[in-house]
Amino acid sequence: MRNSNIIICALVAAVVAVLSACSSGESSGRPKVVVSIMPVYDVACAIAGDSVDVVCLLPRGGNPETYEPTMSQYVDVEHSDAFMYVSNTGFEAAIAARLKENATDRLTIADLSSGVKLLYGTHGDCGHKHHHHSGCSHGDVDPHVWSSAKNMRVIAQNVCDMLKKVDAPRADYYDANLAVVLADIDSLDAEMGRVLAPHRGKAFVVWHPSLSYFARDYGLEQISVGGQENKEASVNQLRQKIDKANGRDAAVMVVQLNYDDRQAQVINEQIGARVVTVDLLNADWAQQLKTVAYAIASEGND
Ligand SMILES: [Zn+2]
Repeated sequence: MRNSNIIICALVAAVVAVLSACSSGESSGRPKVVVSIMPVYDVACAIAGDSVDVVCLLPRGGNPETYEPTMSQYVDVEHSDAFMYVSNTGFEAAIAARLKENATDRLTIADLSSGVKLLYGTHGDCGHKHHHHSGCSHGDVDPHVWSSAKNMRVIAQNVCDMLKKVDAPRADYYDANLAVVLADIDSLDAEMGRVLAPHRGKAFVVWHPSLSYFARDYGLEQISVGGQENKEASVNQLRQKIDKANGRDAAVMVVQLNYDDRQAQVINEQIGARVVTVDLLNADWAQQLKTVAYAIASEGND
């Protein structure tokens, strides 16, 4: 009996050790940084290696535009060394604003989209929910910054800068890890660029306008037939968008896993596109973007 207890304890300890390499900050002695979404978590873990504990706020399947952080998450962030966010809307903006009011000197706050050439007006006219402030103070910026390899390159560099600020003695280590991450992102970007080059100007359909940066990167046209989460398109608008998709021979409809499918399938009965379901908020964001790229490249012959 005692032996089996010891074995179980050893197993638990081993599992905890593995998890804490990049997820649990329980008194490891390492610096702790909090990121907002899984694509950034993926990049941050790769650059941080075993030197920093990285925690991600948005749970799997969560929607960053409507998610409400819990009180314990606020406290968790307040006790970390850095909070890194990518978008100026939704829960990230709410946390950043709150931290800027209550921030201690120890906590660094970083907007990882700094340096990204932002798009304005591609995400609809301010359909976001504003729980913590009113009006449209973010100026219609398209928040889906992470749906782009080119943007993720800038984000990775910003993450590395932040880690070097938090843990200066290991700057060389973070730089070396960054070089590997950037090489991966560059080869992903080059591959998608190569695959999509013959399809410049082609249109694809999305339910929610989550791929504006991706469309810009490769000269594609995104036609959104849905809308924001809290704002349905009118019947007239919908008709126009369906006509546009048909007129532009859009052959692919990209749907976000978990929350777009049903309505999108109904609309697609009038478009007849191939529905491609991806999870753009997955840690494996690279594979998700690649799936979109190859789907667009393989449909139609223009
Ligand atoms: Zn959105």
